Amino acid sequence: MSKQAKQKTSGDCAICGGSTRLAVVPEWEVPASATKPAVTVHEVECLECDDCQERYLEPEQIKAFEIKVIEAQRAAKNLLSADEIRQVREALGINKERLEKILNLNPKSFYRWENGLSIQSDVVDTVLRLLRKYPDAVYALAEERGVSLTIPKGRPRKAG
Ligand SMILES: [Zn+2]
Repeated sequence: MSKQAKQKTSGDCAICGGSTRLAVVPEWEVPASATKPAVTVHEVECLECDDCQERYLEPEQIKAFEIKVIEAQRAAKNLLSADEIRQVREALGINKERLEKILNLNPKSFYRWENGLSIQSDVVDTVLRLLRKYPDAVYALAEERGVSLTIPKGRPRKAG
């Protein structure tokens, strides 16, 4: 990862003024919220104070941490993973923007789901599972939304 090189690897502790160094926490518990289950994420990179063991997350580390949390919350809720969502969309052969129009979703929805930045709703998850099983249903939806589809005939179907 090229961003790694720019990432801060040490600094001063805001609590005790000691020096912090790059550390990898094997297991990090994230408590449940109103809508999200408690999860444990693994191998979290952070800065840790040598003296008081306080932990800090730099902006890039926060991003990586949040992606891990979302991945774990999806798994805990038995929702499609980021990769599975991308696979469903790519099997349909439709780009993100067009599929958002067909499904009446906000712009950037697929970008955010496929990059692990946000979690799809239960209903969206169900619709994506239906489209994985019955890809031709996307034609009917596109027609209802007035979106023209130029999918080549004989596009590959989902294997087995
Ligand atoms: Zn400290």
